[in-house]
Amino acid sequence: MINCPKCPSESLVETPALGNIPLDVCPGCSGIMFDNGELEALLKQSGDLASTDFNLINPKPGGQVCPLCKNKMSRGGLVNPLLVVDKCQSCGGVWLDSNELGLVKKLLGITGGCSEVKVARPAPSAVMPQPWDFKAVVVKCVAGAAAILGLIGVSFEMYLYFSPAASVSHTPSAALAITSVLLFSGGILALNWGKGKGW
Ligand SMILES: [Zn+2]
Ligand SMILES: [Zn+2]
Repeated sequence: MINCPKCPSESLVETPALGNIPLDVCPGCSGIMFDNGELEALLKQSGDLASTDFNLINPKPGGQVCPLCKNKMSRGGLVNPLLVVDKCQSCGGVWLDSNELGLVKKLLGITGGCSEVKVARPAPSAVMPQPWDFKAVVVKCVAGAAAILGLIGVSFEMYLYFSPAASVSHTPSAALAITSVLLFSGGILALNWGKGKGW
């Protein structure tokens, strides 16, 4: 996934629109990201470029981040000092806004081929149902069992305390009571632990 350097929410769409060179085009602004050498190759398809220099003229540090290698791109003239574009000096990638390919071609006197590329946003891929997280299921089961055990412990304690039968001890066992309460609250806490994480 390559993000558009101009539209933060758009991902570039690879399109074979221009001959056999797959181009990364933004569906939002129709800007094109050319990998190193792609622009030259593309223009060579449409015309004779024996001696064209594609190095930037008067390159200055730009503000845009190269979507390919994440380094800062430079801004400078392409073919003509007045046509200022973004080029990455690290990976050689060139970003052209939607109208800039046409301008480059005009400057080079190329009339063939197309000057603008439009792509459609890809259909959002169907959301895959989350596969069962085995760990989460185990945690839930253990937590549920602990909560139930705690509840049973508390009930048993109550039974001991309130039982009318003389044979049972009416003194509640502090250890059992504490364990039960801890088990119950711990279990409930653990059950709620994964909430918000989609469990
Ligand atoms: Zn864009
Ligand atoms: Zn780069």
